[in-house]
Amino acid sequence: MNTKKTIQILAGLLAALSLAACAANPEETVGESLYSDAPGNAVTSDTLYVQKVENLPEDFILGMDASCVPALEAGGVRYYDHDGNHKNVYEILSDNGINYIRVRVWNDPFDANGNGYGGGNCDIENAVTIGKAATAFGMKLLVDFHYSDFWADPGKQRAPKAWQGMDIDQKSEALYQYTKESLQKLVDAGVDVGMVQIGNETNGALCGETSSALGGWKKIMQLISAGSKAVREVCPQALVAVHFANPEKADSYVSYGKNLAYYQVDYDVFASSYYPFWHGTLENLSQVLSNIATTYNKKVMVAETSYAYTAADSDFHGNTIGEGGGIVKDYPFTIQGQANLVRDVIDTVANKTTNGIGVFYWEGTWIAAGGKSYEENAALWERHGSGWAASYAADYDPDDAGKWYGGCAVDNQAFFDPQGKALESLKVFSLVRTGNAIENKPDAIEDTNLILDLKGEILLPETVNAVMLDNSKEEIPVQWHDVDAEAMKNGGVAKYTVKGTAGGMEAVCYVSMVNYNYLQNWSFEEGETGWTATALKSFDELYVEDKVTDSVTGTKHYHFWGAAANAVEFTLEQDVADLRPGKYDYSISIMGGDGGETEIYAYVKINGQIVARGDTTITVYNQWHTAAIQGVEYAEGDTLTVGLYVRCDGANAWGKIDDAMLNAAEE
Ligand code: CA
Repeated sequence: MNTKKTIQILAGLLAALSLAACAANPEETVGESLYSDAPGNAVTSDTLYVQKVENLPEDFILGMDASCVPALEAGGVRYYDHDGNHKNVYEILSDNGINYIRVRVWNDPFDANGNGYGGGNCDIENAVTIGKAATAFGMKLLVDFHYSDFWADPGKQRAPKAWQGMDIDQKSEALYQYTKESLQKLVDAGVDVGMVQIGNETNGALCGETSSALGGWKKIMQLISAGSKAVREVCPQALVAVHFANPEKADSYVSYGKNLAYYQVDYDVFASSYYPFWHGTLENLSQVLSNIATTYNKKVMVAETSYAYTAADSDFHGNTIGEGGGIVKDYPFTIQGQANLVRDVIDTVANKTTNGIGVFYWEGTWIAAGGKSYEENAALWERHGSGWAASYAADYDPDDAGKWYGGCAVDNQAFFDPQGKALESLKVFSLVRTGNAIENKPDAIEDTNLILDLKGEILLPETVNAVMLDNSKEEIPVQWHDVDAEAMKNGGVAKYTVKGTAGGMEAVCYVSMVNYNYLQNWSFEEGETGWTATALKSFDELYVEDKVTDSVTGTKHYHFWGAAANAVEFTLEQDVADLRPGKYDYSISIMGGDGGETEIYAYVKINGQIVARGDTTITVYNQWHTAAIQGVEYAEGDTLTVGLYVRCDGANAWGKIDDAMLNAAEE
């Protein structure tokens, strides 16, 4: 069956559903928000902690991109509310505080035989279907034009098939006409279009034009202006948004703002993606957006954000973030962690950003296609376009989608479980307005990483870090299970995973058994940290250098050079306290040249007195020499100092020092 036709049939079905909803509550469908006008239907939760976002304006946008719903439903996916009732997913979203739906639009995401490229096969008909449902449940629509036949993002801004080969004036005219015709379809269908986005993550490229080409910015801004003009004509009440990604590159946002102003682009909203695992801190986000807002007097918002509620995949297609992750950034991969991230993004835009108007979550409804195996899902992805790309996308994007087509990479970031039931975290969009201060308790356990000395005791920590419901951290007791200390001690250099229980949850400790190096910053990767260099004569260069070819480990090492003869003389030392009593070995490596007559030795001091020394020298470039001392006695309370003494008589004497090691000695 022709996929495009399937979508159109589904569009008819959903339209009928919307009409049924209208008939039941005719007066409510025209209101700003069904949810806010529905007392007695308040969202409550016994398990989700939500810190209230203060001063949240009534019309603050709490939006959801939900572009894949029709494709998923065509393949049999159903959505259920928190009580397990099968409902229209847009009603569930509205009931939980979502007041805006975002939908991406591709010009022609189909091959010549009508097979969809996937990713929801999001053409304008799909947007009409979704827009009507959103309007029926009192939500506005943000129309996200990619001006491409498939995914447009910072890595890809390919022009639609029909526009390839056009010059910039022809392309601008085509974009203008296409925007007008597409918006007219939405208006004719009665969709409440609140905002229109001209391009998606247009980081210096749009519709086949790039800023790196001569006159590139001018062409990009001409295209955006053409889209904006169409919006003003067809949807004069709608806001015009531009959209960029990578706010962590603050300079690029400054440059986008300048170009938009220089080319006098008519827009209302400067929108940014914010994926916390890629896009820097919330503080930075609010700074770069506020800068645009105040410099150009524009509204700003987050057009895309998301976070994982679980590390697990549910559709046999690997996820963007998740597996092997554990706790990343500032939030655990839990339902509470997902809600906390959303709450904090909303708070940042609402209260810490100038002219912040809203936050859209990206594809919170994109769940597994519903098959019981990879093969079953793959068939659904191909037939209905419910995966990120179908094999048919090779027609348009042969090098990426054509090769790596498959399922959903964000099913673990949805607000619905793999069976389509709403997660508790979805309630955050409503509860941010009131707060929901339930009793604080552990929500997730941070993994523990431990490096243990093969010659020391096998001691696992008695506490682990718990992330609490309110995202604070507390140390709580842990019970480790089945620790085979003998095997770990006698197993040589190796890694172990020890499991335990803390706060009723699983705790994991990753143990690396090593010949432990008791020196800090032993290969100078942290610069001078822990080390004291003392020049005993005045000479030219003595510092940590970052040069991978001159380092044994990592990229850094200690460097010295003196132009004059008899110039170089220095010591490099580190103090070590609180060692376990016993015997220790020390070594340090050096290479260099033009030393003339040299005196170079490693030494160990106990309580300030040299007790052992090991001589070495320098010869030529890249020939490393190791000075070593074995079996120094350390007693309780001693301070041990390791050092290297260097004296060179030659003119232009130079050298590099790396890899200082202090290990427990063999008994
Ligand atoms: Ca997946």
